[in-house]
Amino acid sequence: MKIDHSTVLYGVAGYPLSHTLGPAMHNAAFSAAGLNAIYLAFETLDIEGCIKGIRALDIKGMSITIPYKTSVVPLIDEVDELAGKIGAVNTIINREGHLVGYNTDAVGAIRALEEATTLPGKRCLMIGAGGAARAIGFALGEREVPLTIANRSKDRGEKLASDLGCQFIPLGDLTRIEAEILIQTTPLGMAPQAEKSPIPSGLLERETLVMDAIYNPIHTRLLKDARERGCPTINGVEMFLYQGAEQFELWTGVKPPYDIMREAVLNALGQ
Ligand code: NAP
Repeated sequence: MKIDHSTVLYGVAGYPLSHTLGPAMHNAAFSAAGLNAIYLAFETLDIEGCIKGIRALDIKGMSITIPYKTSVVPLIDEVDELAGKIGAVNTIINREGHLVGYNTDAVGAIRALEEATTLPGKRCLMIGAGGAARAIGFALGEREVPLTIANRSKDRGEKLASDLGCQFIPLGDLTRIEAEILIQTTPLGMAPQAEKSPIPSGLLERETLVMDAIYNPIHTRLLKDARERGCPTINGVEMFLYQGAEQFELWTGVKPPYDIMREAVLNALGQ
């Protein structure tokens, strides 16, 4: 990699960032595409200062991750339509000082699902009601997927269900999964709760397609349980890869080198 005065700077802002795979994925993509660009991790507790820094240093693009996807919205100049509906931004493009926010989590999850199934009309149960669930929920609504949200806290679950015009069930009340697709969007299954799953394996039906948004570890407790029950599964790497590929194309206008990006992520995960 050549770094000189014209190297274009990109990065990810969030806290904590010790487990981020963005640098591995995006730097492999820049290199494969022959772009003089670099992607760094900016672990920060000061998102307002970070946004000022993007403008001051002419950083061309920034991924935004936990816990800033919502709080960054009022700090930037424009938000695209889907990100506005979702109320969360995970990607910023710096167009000559004008910062525009996008949400590629939604596209990433939908692409991962559409590689495994056709969506319209399939009933879906989504566990969780945070930022990822909100993004995926809006995209599923646009594809006419009948959705039920199951969440630990009633308030947040009911609010998302009301925003999406769908059903809500408290996570603790779940006794059956009446859905063709199950999407898991809580942190249960990643460190420090890596051995946990949000639902007992006995609830999994073998016809249900099970997707976990967690990508590190790649084989979560839920996905292991699902495979033991004979369910088809999708791991979080697919969503991560497609949301990152969408970012790459938004920033550079270049078709993403998917295979190289996937290989870089899997290598970083030790797979
Ligand atoms: P978030 O906004 O903090 O939401 C977390 C959700 O998980 C909330 O609904 C919360 O329920 C629930 N939850 C947290 N701890 C729980 C527990 N112990 N038991 C049951 N429910 C619990 O987080 P997020 O941004 O949506 O991210 C969620 C997960 O998705 C993370 O693991 C993240 O890494 C992953 N993700 C993956 C990708 C990808 O590309 N693969 C992209 C985005 C996110 P309450 O309302 O009860 O608190």
